[in-house]
Amino acid sequence: ASRISIRNLSKFYKDFLALDRISLDIARGEKIVVLGPSGSGKSTLIRCLNRIEPHDSGVLMIDGKIIDGKTDLTELRGTVGMVFQNYNLFPHLSAVDNCTLAPRLVRGTAREAADAAARRYLEQVGIAEQADKYPIQLSGGQQQRVAIARALCMNPEIILFDEPTAALDPEAISGIVSIMDDLAAQEITTVCVTHEMGFARRIADRIVFMDRGAILEVAPPEDFFTSP
Ligand code: ADP
Ligand code: ADP
Repeated sequence: ASRISIRNLSKFYKDFLALDRISLDIARGEKIVVLGPSGSGKSTLIRCLNRIEPHDSGVLMIDGKIIDGKTDLTELRGTVGMVFQNYNLFPHLSAVDNCTLAPRLVRGTAREAADAAARRYLEQVGIAEQADKYPIQLSGGQQQRVAIARALCMNPEIILFDEPTAALDPEAISGIVSIMDDLAAQEITTVCVTHEMGFARRIADRIVFMDRGAILEVAPPEDFFTSP
């Protein structure tokens, strides 16, 4: 069974058709990269996967369960984590406190347990030493690692990435590449919107190419990047 199953998904903003009958199946632990021109619907597609944007028609299923207006959004957003271009960390909280906030408030995890888990994930993404620092004291690459650790603290099955490397230098991007490989090894599914072809090529199992709200092509990177 697919981790994510998308059938004829459509989404309007008022009269504007942003997603036009999208269909796609994504497997457990698969790394999907969504490419396409600006305005083609890439962000909208991934935002539908955790219902930040509700779709208007079609069927979305995660682990065989239909996602619709009756879905418990708190539970869904635990299952489907999200990492943003600008990290979206709370500036007044240390790295570890950014990570423990949702487990404590949403799941009711005790502070000590949440703290221990957060430090484990910060170590997994290579920034154990920065755990008690504040976002302003961290580089962009380190902040993005905190954002990934924060998502991991909710034990997600899927992590959505919206332009995660847009603000990062090549070295920091390599760090994110190896973290995403690590996530796949743990069977966490990743769906990543990016403009960066090199990054796409390095991480994708399959590339989804969108244009004007539709999927034009789905192919592994070796097929995608060697057009005649
Ligand atoms: P991409 O991520 O490929 O750049 P988006 O999914 O952000 O594309 O946007 C697709 C189209 O939908 C664009 O034309 C954009 O202007 C429009 N759009 C996105 N969000 C909204 C919104 N909240 N309200 C109205 N139009 C929107
Ligand atoms: P991206 O290309 O990364 O999706 P955008 O600049 O297109 O970023 O969108 C940033 C925010 O503005 C998003 O929340 C999106 O939903 C909203 N937005 C985009 N286009 C429109 C639009 N035409 N009308 C209203 N909101 C929009």
